Amino acid sequence: MQRNAALSDARGWLALFVRQAINTFQSIASEDPSGDKHMDLFGQMMYAPLLLSSLLQQAARHSSKVEIVSRRVEGDIHRYTYRDCHIRAMQLANALTAHGIEAGDRIGTLAWNGYRHMELYYGVSGIGAVCHTINPRLFTEQIAYIINHAQDRFVCFDMSFAPLVEQIAHQCPLVEKWIMLCDERALPETFPVPLLSYETLIGAQPQEFDWPRFDEQRAAVLCYTSGTTGNPKGVLYSHRSLSLMAYGSALPDTLCLSSTDTVAPVVPMFHVNAWGLPFSAPLVGAKLVLPGAKLDGESLWTLFEQEGVTFSAGVPTIWLGLVDYMRRAGKHSTHFKRAIVGGSACPPQLASSLRELGIKAVHAWGMTELSPLGTVCSPSHDYQDKSAEEQKCIDAKQGRVVPGIDLKIVGSGGAELPWDGKSAGDLMARGHWVLDRYYGAGQTALEDGWFSTGDVATIDPDGYMQITDRSKDVIKSGGEWISSIELEHVAMSHPEVESAACIGCEHPKWDERPVLIVVKRAGSTLSAQQLLAYYEGKVARWWIPDDVVFVPEMPLTATGKLQKLVLKQRFGRHLVDAAKPSA
Ligand code: ADP
Repeated sequence: MQRNAALSDARGWLALFVRQAINTFQSIASEDPSGDKHMDLFGQMMYAPLLLSSLLQQAARHSSKVEIVSRRVEGDIHRYTYRDCHIRAMQLANALTAHGIEAGDRIGTLAWNGYRHMELYYGVSGIGAVCHTINPRLFTEQIAYIINHAQDRFVCFDMSFAPLVEQIAHQCPLVEKWIMLCDERALPETFPVPLLSYETLIGAQPQEFDWPRFDEQRAAVLCYTSGTTGNPKGVLYSHRSLSLMAYGSALPDTLCLSSTDTVAPVVPMFHVNAWGLPFSAPLVGAKLVLPGAKLDGESLWTLFEQEGVTFSAGVPTIWLGLVDYMRRAGKHSTHFKRAIVGGSACPPQLASSLRELGIKAVHAWGMTELSPLGTVCSPSHDYQDKSAEEQKCIDAKQGRVVPGIDLKIVGSGGAELPWDGKSAGDLMARGHWVLDRYYGAGQTALEDGWFSTGDVATIDPDGYMQITDRSKDVIKSGGEWISSIELEHVAMSHPEVESAACIGCEHPKWDERPVLIVVKRAGSTLSAQQLLAYYEGKVARWWIPDDVVFVPEMPLTATGKLQKLVLKQRFGRHLVDAAKPSA
């Protein structure tokens, strides 16, 4: 007994001694020079800033033989490897440094998806300068505006944009060098401003470059919004934000990218980072196929077949073109299995047409301010238990968040709305690759830490988000909201409709009523009455549009989206004018 008591006494003293020793050690370890004893204990792992250069470097080392294939504006196919791309990006980095480009300087690009654009993405950002991708489909005044606003020192452009550069060069006095993405022989003999060829610029440069290590929060890429209202606004992405998006977007429930994929970004590298694919493809070591300027159905099909493309991303218009060609030519997909559809709502008809051709349409949503990836419609854990009809409804939604992004919907007073799949409200986003403030703006664009996307959406209990409208396109009839997107989907499912837009037109009694603007398929004799009758039983009766206006073509924005503002300007008073007795 006595022996036991002595033993337990000794153990008690030992425990007390050990505890005191640990406390003393911890307080010494956590004491900082200012005497603060509450400093955090940091992890003791290697630190490497998230820099874009490391993505290409990784691909060059670990996927060195994987190809980047480009259809050039010169007309031929160019092919090389990630290793070659890295070498030329280092030559570019050396050239820019030799020409006095410093960290923070902006270099503009006016280029299609191609290997030289890829080198610019990495060579420019790798030295800490900013790759400013310019959308050549903007109005020329807007292009000049953003080059001046961004204060681009150099602008690099594809040969096919030479006529555009001729028009704007004199409006951009701050640009020191205009660099044409070609070799010396292809330079035009006369041009309003001095030109440098890209190949000459980088050709004689050393093939080694020690990528600098700097703060991952530094700017890497600048992209301006389309500016459908007012001047375009700049969104300045950081190395950290783009790297994190690359990691998040490659995940299985996001784009599910792997080294066995052959990835063809049809979405342009001149707008919102081609949805991050120039970063996520090298991250996983996937083969890249860059389609250049030819984006019609036949050109895409031929390239995809030749190169064994398995995965691609584009706006609905692109896929409509591909479906149209494949049907006419009696083609069925062999390798190409997944098409990301985003930028505007994917009409259900398009998804089923692609399915019939052996291609799965995966719906995604995003915007310039979200770098752009926000949601992807991938199956949740109980998707397989749902009925075919329920699965179809889910597939039509814009999807669940990419990990790293958070969403909420709010009502008019700012209160959060329930995730019941019915309540529609303003969609707010936050996360690692969401804008804080526009380039050059003094103030944050956030409201209580959330970015207001300008979209109206529902979110269901499984987290699937569905856009019902752009807030400025919502049709308010008698105080109730009508979803223009849903009405467009119905019209688009009619076999004789090529494209459809639904706008709110002024109405003396209901404030606004929906009117359909439609482009018919060639040879169609479809009448307004027939199309309106087609809505019966498909939507609530009071949602059925009041009229249909047939037009030969739709006005499209710089990124190929319907330009509803133009339609509203043209047809906004259609119902009021139609009601007036003719003189
Ligand atoms: P812009 O430069 O015109 O702003 P963005 O590419 O940033 O071009 O456009 C973002 C907007 O496009 C979103 O806010 C949304 O309204 C629309 N959009 C994008 N993807 C989808 C989608 N899958 N379904 C419906 N609308 C979409």
